[in-house]
Amino acid sequence: MCLICVEFAKGKLTTREARRALGEMAVALDRTHVEELKRTLAEADAKQNEEDDDAD
Ligand SMILES: [Zn+2]
Repeated sequence: MCLICVEFAKGKLTTREARRALGEMAVALDRTHVEELKRTLAEADAKQNEEDDDAD
């Protein structure tokens, strides 16, 4: 877990914001964790696309 995961889990970051943060923090994070996080964001995006009728 890193700050990005924590904030994303709380719903304080969108996948787009989390990706931007990941781009900035990737060098400071464990490489395997970066891959995990990318997968998490990709899954969240896919899920969001399924229910894109209620955009906020
Ligand atoms: Zn994390």
